[in-house]
Amino acid sequence: VRIANHDGRLALCTGDDTVDVERASDGRFSSDPQLVYDVWDEFRDWAGTGPDPTGSRGENSLSAPVPSPRQVFAVGLNYREHSEEAGFQTPAAPMIFTKFPSSITGPSGDIALPPGSVDWEIELVAVIGRRAYQVSEDRALDHVAGLTIGQDLSERESQLSGAPPQFSLAKSFPGFAPLGPLVVTMDELEQELQLTTVLNGEVVQDGSTRDLVFALPELVSRISMVCPLLPGDLIFTGTPPGVGMGRTPPRYLSPGDELVSRITGLGEMRHRFVTMADNGLAER
Ligand code: ZN
Repeated sequence: VRIANHDGRLALCTGDDTVDVERASDGRFSSDPQLVYDVWDEFRDWAGTGPDPTGSRGENSLSAPVPSPRQVFAVGLNYREHSEEAGFQTPAAPMIFTKFPSSITGPSGDIALPPGSVDWEIELVAVIGRRAYQVSEDRALDHVAGLTIGQDLSERESQLSGAPPQFSLAKSFPGFAPLGPLVVTMDELEQELQLTTVLNGEVVQDGSTRDLVFALPELVSRISMVCPLLPGDLIFTGTPPGVGMGRTPPRYLSPGDELVSRITGLGEMRHRFVTMADNGLAER
């Protein structure tokens, strides 16, 4: 099952066709893409019955497939080589922070750069489809609806050298959590996924989920020991090596840069960076 947010409406994607879920189900399922995760098991059964297409795919009108989660968890230093390039030890337990949900944006379009040093971090993102509280690792994936691509954009100066360092705030400027284009169920995906970031045509990150320090079942289980995971919540699972701050000299995003983010089986996102003034956000 592959779903998308098509002009603000939940769509089921079948090849080049798209099914408007609310219309095709005669109102049984809401058009609001966020609400489908509350009824995920029922929705999957319905999607499996092969509802008739209502239109064809138009990628330019895609928005974030999970537009307003109640909770967003993110994992730091979850690939060994990324910990090394960032100058940290690989942690003994997952390092968890949040990206505030107002930072979510869609899989294409412009993102405004705040002052500072903005870096890229492609990440595999899991979407919760069933409440999970204190679940074991072997049951953890039963609670995951599917996977999508995310960028954990990060302003490094306030994240790391501010007083105090601000992980969550530095990663939560508007547009700093692009998501999409699709949420895909795990039965449609390979076991190991390749994550690639391309900056202005140059591959800067190219890693595999095989190198995750803490794999998804362990992340879901460990987070759920403290916080009940709610339908529609997100887990950003960490970034492979190749971020800008790990380079000599460090390299950060500038106005006009184009960032393409790809994961096997999940498609790609494409964003352009602009100054805050270009985006109309500076005059407040
Ligand atoms: Zn990250």
